[in-house]
Amino acid sequence: MPTAAFIDEHADELVAFCAHLVQQASPNPPGDTRAVAAAVGGLLERHGIPVETIADQESMPNLVASIEGREPGPHLVLNGHMDVYPDGAEAAWSRPPRSGAIEGGRLHGRGAGDMKSGLTTLLYAFLALAADRSFAGRLSLCAVSDEMSFSPHGAPLVLTRRPDLVGDAAIGAEPTSPDFVLIGEKGMLWIEVTTLGDAGAGAFASGLTNAIETMGAVIADLAAWRERDVSIPPTVTAALAAGGTAGLPDEALTYADDRVLHLPTVSVGTIRGGTKINLVAETCRAEVDLRIPAGLTLDDARSFVAEVIARHVGATSLEIQGMEPNLTDPSDPLVQALLDAGGDVLGVRPRPELGITASDTRLWRALGRPAAMIGPRIAGQGMPDESIAVADLIACAKIVALAAKRYLQPSPGRTKPVS
Ligand SMILES: [Zn+2]
Repeated sequence: MPTAAFIDEHADELVAFCAHLVQQASPNPPGDTRAVAAAVGGLLERHGIPVETIADQESMPNLVASIEGREPGPHLVLNGHMDVYPDGAEAAWSRPPRSGAIEGGRLHGRGAGDMKSGLTTLLYAFLALAADRSFAGRLSLCAVSDEMSFSPHGAPLVLTRRPDLVGDAAIGAEPTSPDFVLIGEKGMLWIEVTTLGDAGAGAFASGLTNAIETMGAVIADLAAWRERDVSIPPTVTAALAAGGTAGLPDEALTYADDRVLHLPTVSVGTIRGGTKINLVAETCRAEVDLRIPAGLTLDDARSFVAEVIARHVGATSLEIQGMEPNLTDPSDPLVQALLDAGGDVLGVRPRPELGITASDTRLWRALGRPAAMIGPRIAGQGMPDESIAVADLIACAKIVALAAKRYLQPSPGRTKPVS
């Protein structure tokens, strides 16, 4: 059956499956994805596809499956995550967070966009190619855990245990927009800052150092990261020459917004300090998220943080995690396959664009592989009333399936991958 026809034929099933995934809880924290993994594994097994589980935490399984084409060719990997943001305050939702309701042409619930819909598009693209096998090489699917915290238990573990899944290229499906193929991402630096003060009664605090006040000063200084000058590298300018977000509606700009893309950002995510209202705060801790646009490096961010910390007595910082800004060449066959497939399905070729947030595709880029993403537009990401358009879900499944088929062409001189 032709690839797009498979998606059309299974459209109702695909939408119902996505709603079913939304109904399976997988908030992170704690990141327990077993219910989602059971649904994903069950679907693949019903289609006769063997599934392997890779895990170093019982509650965070990663599922992988591969299918072989008719002749030797490249190895393409589809990667999506099964964990989702926490529900937040349930009272703020118009429907229960795990309703999976389909109303007004939209699928509602936590994870509907990030990224149970994207995961569903990858799954059905995979099933579409499994149904006809008229491709070359190998297609693999990874459904991973703990992406929300970028921990080692998810895709990093899969790539360590199964280095063959680095493949030749990777497609992700975070909620972006069918208007874009995301070919790169900003980098980030996550730090924990600790400040120490003096013990003492608040009433007699004169001359004592208060850890919370020191933290306030550190945070004020960290805000200067936003003022850093960025000179955008020519490679990025060239990559975006045919793209860009000018003129697109705000709802298309969740992941890609040229107004934010080139800005260094800083956000304090958590803060805890002090023990009692009438005692001087002896300790304070804050977790801070700095984002790094192309044109700055991880070391630029590290140096900036070190300079700020050095200015404040009693302050130290610890790096939680860091990643460089990263980019796949827009002329790469993988990107072209996605742009062409988007044009076939939508009638308008999507634009290459860079993403504001980080995703697992960075892991493939760090290993020298091209990686790109396309996914449904999302409303309410990380907020109440998350939803996506059902039409996007179907369109993106077709785009990924057609792109995979275009990319998986015979490559002269290749040997068939060994199982
Ligand atoms: Zn995501």
